[in-house]
Amino acid sequence: SDTEDRKEDDTSVRVALRIRPQSARERIDMCQVCTAVMPSEKQVMLGKDKAFTFDYVYDMPSTQDFIYKDCVEKLIEGCFEGYNATVFAYGQTGSGKTYTMGTGFDVHIPEIEIGIIPRAVDHLFKGIEERKRQALERNETPPDFKVNAQFMELYNEEILDLLDTTRDPESRGRKSNAKIHEDASGGIYVVGTTTRLVYSLQETIQCLQSGALSRATASTNMNATSSRSHAIFTLHIKQHRIVKEEAVILDEENSEVKMEQSSDSVNEFETLTAKFHFVDLAGSERLKRTGATGDRAKEGISINCGLLALGNVISALGDVTKKGSHVPYRDSKLTRLLQDSLGGNSRTLMIACVSPSDRDFMETLNTLKYANRAR
Ligand code: ADP
Ligand code: MG
Repeated sequence: SDTEDRKEDDTSVRVALRIRPQSARERIDMCQVCTAVMPSEKQVMLGKDKAFTFDYVYDMPSTQDFIYKDCVEKLIEGCFEGYNATVFAYGQTGSGKTYTMGTGFDVHIPEIEIGIIPRAVDHLFKGIEERKRQALERNETPPDFKVNAQFMELYNEEILDLLDTTRDPESRGRKSNAKIHEDASGGIYVVGTTTRLVYSLQETIQCLQSGALSRATASTNMNATSSRSHAIFTLHIKQHRIVKEEAVILDEENSEVKMEQSSDSVNEFETLTAKFHFVDLAGSERLKRTGATGDRAKEGISINCGLLALGNVISALGDVTKKGSHVPYRDSKLTRLLQDSLGGNSRTLMIACVSPSDRDFMETLNTLKYANRAR
């Protein structure tokens, strides 16, 4: 079938569903659990009769570590081979997006609660060390890596730089100078934001946490919440390495002879680049429910514009019948910024986060529908 074909395809968009446990509040209020997972089927049932199937389904007790290893770790492995990757957390406010991603600023969380980003960063730096060590064992020049971190927030279709330490938290909402550019080969880059060269897990986590704190502080000062903005943490990975002999052999007719020659000649090098975006999306709840008016309504409109455009882009990418047709990247800053990391050789994972409680039934249904469209 259509779905199975795409599952074989490494570059496709994958969708995961995560149901968080009930909160103490929900238990005290005696909310009922209205989600049921059939793990063998990767299916969730909402209420009595609404069934949805996803690539991955994680029920309430699923751990951070399990989810990371099950669906994210391989994307980091792909970065070592030059594939871009993007992981989104989608869902209503309070559904577990920030918890899942690890874009909170709390430094004192227990190991088991650490989210996706710190785990991915840990894996990346361990992978770098491992590759250097293996090269030395083979008496080869070790590969050279450069990792840069960026942390931005999209708020009202404006880009805010969360790593800019000179930024006054009161300035949230003020026009920033950041601009999105496209180079001749279709690569997207942002000018006017901080790019931090990082050499270790600790250094990268420090960036992540100071950015997250800056985001939270700014929203408090604005009497707003971070649920109305998208937070995008990006790792730019640049690798300079020896071209492997295997790769040469594949290209050559007479491999044995050529291999001898190449071992005597000067090493050839290649540079691989990859980008990994981690996106903690704005809350997907509809305006109606929060009763927004005036400025808030305007915020809501541009947030929905990002989420709407993202839904359209991902749906266009996933639709085999539409291959080669127009993908509406330019409809929002969010999709424009991620243009070269969605589709093509990139790997995309959408983690749809939902509450299990019956009082969130309608929002959960909306999230399941949105996520289903992405498949
Ligand atoms: P969002 O970012 O979608 O608004 P949060 O990640 O802030 O939601 O989660 C809301 C609350 O639920 C937080 O207190 C968070 O710690 C808790 N929470 C979310 N997911 C889980 C989970 N899988 N296990 C335990 N607590 C969770
Ligand atoms: Mg959040």
